[in-house]
Amino acid sequence: MINKRKAACVLSLSMMAFTGQLFSQQKDYPIQPVAFTSVHVNDNFWQPKMEVNANVTIPYVLAQCKANGRMDNFLRAAKKLDGDKLSEFPFDDTDVYKAIEGASYSMQNKANPKLDKYIDTLISIIGAAQEPDGYLYTFRTVHAKKPHEWIGAKRWEQEEVLSHELYDCGHLYEAAVAHYQATGKRTLLNIAIKNADLLVKVFGPGKLEEYPGHQIVEIGLSKMYRVTGNKQYLDLAKFFLDVRGPKGDAYNQANKKVVDQHEAEGHAVRAAYMYTGMADIAALTGDTKYLTAIDDIWGDVVNKKLYITGGIGATGNGEAFGDAYQLPNMSAYAETCAAIGNVYWNNRMFLLHGDSKYIDVLERTLYNGLLSGVSLSGDRFFYPNPLASMSQHQRSAWISCACCISNMTRFLPSLPGYVYAKNKNDLYINLFMGNSSNIKLALGNVNIVQTTDYPWKGKVDITVNPEKSLEFTLRVRIPGWAKQQPVPGNLYTFMDKKALPVMLSINGQPQSFVTEKGYAVLKRTWKKGDQVSLLLPMKTEKVLANPLVKDDKSRFAFERGPVVYCLEGPDNKDSLVQNIMVDTNAIANANYHADLLNGVDVISAEGKSTKRQLNSDQLIEANQQVKAIPYYAWANRGPSEMTVWIPYEASAARPKPAPTIASTSKVTSSLKNTRMYAAIKDQYEPADSKDTNYPYLHWWPAKNTSEYVQYDFDTTHTVSESKVYWFDDGPWGGCRIPASYKILYLKDGQWVPVKNTIPYTISKDGFNTVTFEPVNTTALRMEIQLPVDNSSGIHEWAIK
Ligand SMILES: [Zn+2]
Repeated sequence: MINKRKAACVLSLSMMAFTGQLFSQQKDYPIQPVAFTSVHVNDNFWQPKMEVNANVTIPYVLAQCKANGRMDNFLRAAKKLDGDKLSEFPFDDTDVYKAIEGASYSMQNKANPKLDKYIDTLISIIGAAQEPDGYLYTFRTVHAKKPHEWIGAKRWEQEEVLSHELYDCGHLYEAAVAHYQATGKRTLLNIAIKNADLLVKVFGPGKLEEYPGHQIVEIGLSKMYRVTGNKQYLDLAKFFLDVRGPKGDAYNQANKKVVDQHEAEGHAVRAAYMYTGMADIAALTGDTKYLTAIDDIWGDVVNKKLYITGGIGATGNGEAFGDAYQLPNMSAYAETCAAIGNVYWNNRMFLLHGDSKYIDVLERTLYNGLLSGVSLSGDRFFYPNPLASMSQHQRSAWISCACCISNMTRFLPSLPGYVYAKNKNDLYINLFMGNSSNIKLALGNVNIVQTTDYPWKGKVDITVNPEKSLEFTLRVRIPGWAKQQPVPGNLYTFMDKKALPVMLSINGQPQSFVTEKGYAVLKRTWKKGDQVSLLLPMKTEKVLANPLVKDDKSRFAFERGPVVYCLEGPDNKDSLVQNIMVDTNAIANANYHADLLNGVDVISAEGKSTKRQLNSDQLIEANQQVKAIPYYAWANRGPSEMTVWIPYEASAARPKPAPTIASTSKVTSSLKNTRMYAAIKDQYEPADSKDTNYPYLHWWPAKNTSEYVQYDFDTTHTVSESKVYWFDDGPWGGCRIPASYKILYLKDGQWVPVKNTIPYTISKDGFNTVTFEPVNTTALRMEIQLPVDNSSGIHEWAIK
């Protein structure tokens, strides 16, 4: 692949790029994004979020990287710090790179000399940690006496499996390009070039023929190619795709050649990064063979594997795509990184095809399943983004595997780069947010100013200011949701099939318009100060899922514009929402609350709550006002119940538990995580022992230990029966039914075993009942002996 002539040519091209001349590539996306550096967002929705990112998240994440050993990894590799202590994961270097990438974007949005100086210091440490031949991977360079079990004795040996060496490189390149573009400094870029040149020497046909275990280096190399003009980087990115499969695992998309893949499977983040990389290489090489594959995979995702929030990757089992229509809500994985990857991928699909349906998916992901990944305060984070909760979920201050945290840090300030795109003299308006932008078309420069209260209001005012009168085409995206098609395909539909008109005017004159690929096409000679006014019909919709999604059966979700809503405890009676039902005919009103959750629309509707009663299967129903808030804003007021999908039939509701001895008891346990306690007395019977869509209590990773749970009654009760439903997620998970268990009761301050009248049973997928001679007591305890090699868990423990 590499010969001397090419290498010489590459060198001169690189020189051109760096001497300030524009390096002109042969091929790239037919549509080009308008860079984040040209778009200045100034609205009331995104600008404050980007400000929180700059003022809170970036400094917070940098401080956490330091506190959690990531900076020390580089210092030790650079021999500026003694010892061989390393942080937890070999991919920890990427958190520093991603924080630098985010900081670079943010400094472009708003200058910050202090941060700039700090980043310079970091970059000099990273440079010092790089080995002389360009290799950069602190976990090997530190030469720990006991090397991390993932990394292998030699370089790249474990790359296809666990070492993440190339994953680290990919994030380094992305950071280096962002830093170079934002600051004009070549410091990090030079480090990246030295590293990429090493990869070019090591990998390729006839050299080391291995694929990256965790994709992203493909995207990084394409960016490096664009900036330096070194075609060897592009060739290597293409090689890393072509060398993949068919002998590897579906887990990381290596079970088939990439061109033979037509369905989304395996680890969702790796997959989304790979599909993004495939789009990049198709665009940059003009090689269309990847397109059939990613077009098919995209169809598979939007028709069968996409959450209404835009989240992807349904299952925590391998952090992976589930089967078609497998979209559980409470156990939804929908990793924040996967949402970010979904935005990257859909943006590339748009740049290839020029169709607004890709931006529909991008926008849905952005306003919902991506934005939910960070708290309003900017310093708490979700890794999975569930669509229902019994209070067991809450954002974390830090996660030892911090991928989602640093990914959010870098994504938010890059957002201005997704608003516009251009193709010669066609200017695309993809996202609606207040901003002022300077865009270079083939014929001349245009300043565009957007003013809007989107996503709360559907009115968008666009001022067009060409430097001189200029004929060009403005392509204004008409979102799918405004045409009663929330998502391309048939996975989700609005209950109301009737679309209201989208209105467009130019300089106050109503304008009829044609649409092409989802865009209103406005071709004319534009002059300074021309006003385009777009009025999108913002109304509250009820969304239905395809009947094949069993988890959304007899339920609907509220949506307004691009924003998906949820019911959350603090806004609803008794802080409960799982027991709520709303009729499909209920009239829903939306009102803006400036003082709630930094300003949100709240949807209210007349609904019902249901609760169980003792000694009867009949549910008690009561009318109540139901309130919904935007999904992205949930979990900012402490742990609480939440649901996106609202039952409209009693069969789908989860009634409030009846006041049994268990439900009125206080739970204590050898388990220290108190958030799991409520699970054992919530009166929900799971489908089977491995059902993760209902909360459960578990002792994983403990094994072979003796554990307990205990009910302290509200008063003295006579009890004579215990029913326990075990959690068991074999063969993949770590919990199995216990080795043994017994029931004890409190007698004169001592725990005494009950005298069982039938034998104890221990089986899966149903209740294990034991009866015993009645005892008069204030507390009952279950002692559980965990299996030798596994942990155990409990779905439900009922007593009588
Ligand atoms: Zn992640």
